[in-house]
Amino acid sequence: MSKTKEELGELLDKCVTFHGHLCMGQVLGVRLAVKGLSLAAPSTYKDLIVVVENDRCIADAIQTVTGTRLGRRSFKLKDYGRMAATFMNVTTNHSWRLNVAMDRTINGEDEDAVRQALYIPDEEMLAWREVKVNLRPEEMPGKPKRVVTCVECGEKVFDGKDTIGEKGPVCMACSSGSYYTAH
Ligand SMILES: [Zn+2]
Ligand SMILES: [Zn+2]
Repeated sequence: MSKTKEELGELLDKCVTFHGHLCMGQVLGVRLAVKGLSLAAPSTYKDLIVVVENDRCIADAIQTVTGTRLGRRSFKLKDYGRMAATFMNVTTNHSWRLNVAMDRTINGEDEDAVRQALYIPDEEMLAWREVKVNLRPEEMPGKPKRVVTCVECGEKVFDGKDTIGEKGPVCMACSSGSYYTAH
């Protein structure tokens, strides 16, 4: 089901509102999301999980267009720093990975050129193929399958993110160092 120019323009406007500015990332995110949705063809929002491979502009646009959300576990980040996303239909069990494969550059400062990139043919802009995604049961939406208490810090750890040490479950921060230090 392809989108009309007007529909693509409206999606881009929605993304710009959510993201805060017009940028090439919003256009690329719209393009990845529209194509990804057409391939994965979810019947309801519960069919769809999207895995995005960077935490930059495209991530916001893909959430906006697909309606997937980090907090609902339907939007996942695997931060490989690549301009790519995988669209999983968890009901039909078919997944498609799409990446940006455009060889021409568009001046991100030129608003018209950025908007026109909405209409570059899919084949010129994107590459896609069917893939198999191996998410663990603990990564799927639904009630937490495992909740433990870290024996080091005493905080609860959800979803199997702990490892088992000599004295019991240990959270990632206690086992391999955290992103913060005590003040
Ligand atoms: Zn941006
Ligand atoms: Zn801990």
